Amino acid sequence: MKAKAAIFPDANGGISIDEVELESPRADELLVKITACGICHTDLSMMGPAPFIPLPVVLGHEGVGIVEKVGAEVTDFSPGDKVLLSIDHCGTCSACDIGSPAYCEEMMVRHFSAGRPDGSSPITYKGERMGGSFFAQSSFASHSIAPARAAVKMDDDIPLELMAPLGCGVQTGAGTVLNIFEPKAGQGIAIFGVGAVGLSAVMAAKYANCYPIIAIDKNAQRLELAKELGADVGINTQTHDALEEIQKITNDRGVEYSFDNTGAADVIKTALDCLHKNGTCAIANSQEELTINGFGILLGKTLRGSLEGNSVPRTFIPELVEMYRQGHLPLEKLVKFYPFEELETALADAHSGAVIKPILTMST
Ligand SMILES: [Zn+2]
Ligand SMILES: [Zn+2]
Repeated sequence: MKAKAAIFPDANGGISIDEVELESPRADELLVKITACGICHTDLSMMGPAPFIPLPVVLGHEGVGIVEKVGAEVTDFSPGDKVLLSIDHCGTCSACDIGSPAYCEEMMVRHFSAGRPDGSSPITYKGERMGGSFFAQSSFASHSIAPARAAVKMDDDIPLELMAPLGCGVQTGAGTVLNIFEPKAGQGIAIFGVGAVGLSAVMAAKYANCYPIIAIDKNAQRLELAKELGADVGINTQTHDALEEIQKITNDRGVEYSFDNTGAADVIKTALDCLHKNGTCAIANSQEELTINGFGILLGKTLRGSLEGNSVPRTFIPELVEMYRQGHLPLEKLVKFYPFEELETALADAHSGAVIKPILTMST
């Protein structure tokens, strides 16, 4: 069938929407009419200087929409179902076995190979194979072919388009707190970098009754929003030293948990240094070499990575939806909607940080 998709890079090296041909869904896949897709920093990284995905490709990995067709072996979805597309997994490896699909052995091939695990792509452009299946969805498009196991059914009573970022950014931030840290009420947390992922962590920390919740950023406006969403203190690193301030706030005790979203080695060092012994620091994104003080680790500190907040989307997304229903996840304060045609503006606003979470909306 014909569909519209954002091709990157296009003939001019930029991104543009054009007509593509989509395969019919295979036995275990869905054809989803995409109604909205959030923009995540991983989309921007793939458009940056060192993308770790073969190009050209159709990006987009926070898609929501309506099932139009189901593959022959799909039993848990029907046409008309509202769905959110999230991470894919093989279902049989040791990570999948212990309920950690984010660390599936096939994570890279299923998300970053620009095709299905067998090398095929569901998208053809001008008669040639086009990279697709980005995060098993490539949802900067009017339609997506996605494996049914990566889809989560969504209830009718919630605004589906607003839920799009739950599929990656929000589940990464909230999942780091609720699935990895599992804090007790009254435990302290420092969150370094309060974009969409960090702010989701702030909301989850508030939900879990952490105290104090300390937000650290160099953007005063974001710190204000972090406070509105539950942070007890905001530290602006343009004017203050984060470590000194955290030690002051906690009477030199440090916090039980820290979460870095900046990926910068010096910030990760601070995130480790500000921990109480036995504390855990999680990082959501970094490709830098880190220098770690062995004695700090010896005394009980833990440093670990967080992919997608170690979430199992089929169970965690409904929990996040329930948090939204109860007012604990006011996503509307983070997002700005853009028509799909204004993709370039939305990407630029995500890149500059002018908007925390742009969401593209697709009309027919
Ligand atoms: Zn697996
Ligand atoms: Zn993402």
